[in-house]
Amino acid sequence: MHFARFDRVRLAHLPTPLEPMDRLSKALGGPRLWIKRDDCTGVSTGGNKTRKLEFLLGEALAQKADVIITQGATQSNHVRQTAAFCARLGLECHAILEDRTGFDDPDYRLNGNVLLDALHGATIEHVPAGTDMVAACETAAAEFSGKNKTPYIIPGGGSNPTGALGYANCALELVNQANDMGLPISRILHATGSAGTQAGLVAGLRAINAGIPLLGIGVRAPKDKQEANVFALAQATADKLGCPGVVSRDDVVANTDYVGPGYGIPNAATIAAIETFSQLEGLLLDPVYSGKGAAGLIDLVRKGAFADDQNIVFLHTGGSAGLFGYRSFFKEPEIRNLVT
Ligand SMILES: *Cc1c(COP(=O)(O)O)cnc(C)c1O
Repeated sequence: MHFARFDRVRLAHLPTPLEPMDRLSKALGGPRLWIKRDDCTGVSTGGNKTRKLEFLLGEALAQKADVIITQGATQSNHVRQTAAFCARLGLECHAILEDRTGFDDPDYRLNGNVLLDALHGATIEHVPAGTDMVAACETAAAEFSGKNKTPYIIPGGGSNPTGALGYANCALELVNQANDMGLPISRILHATGSAGTQAGLVAGLRAINAGIPLLGIGVRAPKDKQEANVFALAQATADKLGCPGVVSRDDVVANTDYVGPGYGIPNAATIAAIETFSQLEGLLLDPVYSGKGAAGLIDLVRKGAFADDQNIVFLHTGGSAGLFGYRSFFKEPEIRNLVT
């Protein structure tokens, strides 16, 4: 894999740390748990979209784009990181936000990532749940073209082969860290949504023949659909990397038992996982993605899915800014006292 062949804007703080979670490991019993800190990628509170955006914005600049159009749910971490990249690069950013949850809490609608989108100067268009978001981006692009602008559309979550390069590169980074530390990794877990993170990791791990299995914890789609989406994108990413055919269908595994009531809606296990990571490790997860991924990790450890001598790496995909949009879901006594 030769990443220097691809256009890229280097804004991420890399490599992100790989750290042990000893208090959590002790509390749960079982394997030793580690965390790969992609919440620390450095752009506007960090997160996994930053690695993808380095390659996507690299391509956009090579195409002389001057306006970036992208989309996501109201509390999208992807949109926030895109808005920050655009601010840093002097590009216009137009974000289309889909009201996927129907929540009318003012914190959800205006705080958290939405506040940051606006602070970074993005223009925001709110659309109802079920809107054809691909068509909405194309319509916006046509309007900008009509005004003599050069738009570049980034798909939801930055998940296409260009964006997924960022996670193929992360696979290389993580395996190099583990090699330097003398740490044999038994498995990697992370939250999977629009598929680019898992697809890039699978392609990268396969291309370097790392022999490390990967488990995506789903946040939206049912298992069959999620795995099919990841597999298709992983194959396309491997092609782009110059390693066609390295990914097989069996390499792509998603567990969708922790989605809860639906995308963007946390359940008791999500909230408990966020509180556990906060209180045992001082780490901030989010209610849409990393909290569900961690709920899966915690439950699987408790069920004995991993041997005691294994090293399990949880990839922290970020999202803490979203906490401020979901304040009403947290019931710590101190918070309750303040709001009642
Ligand atoms: C987008 C996102 C994910 C999911 O990554 P995909 O590449 O969309 O599958 C996980 N965690 C957080 C915090 C995210 O913002």
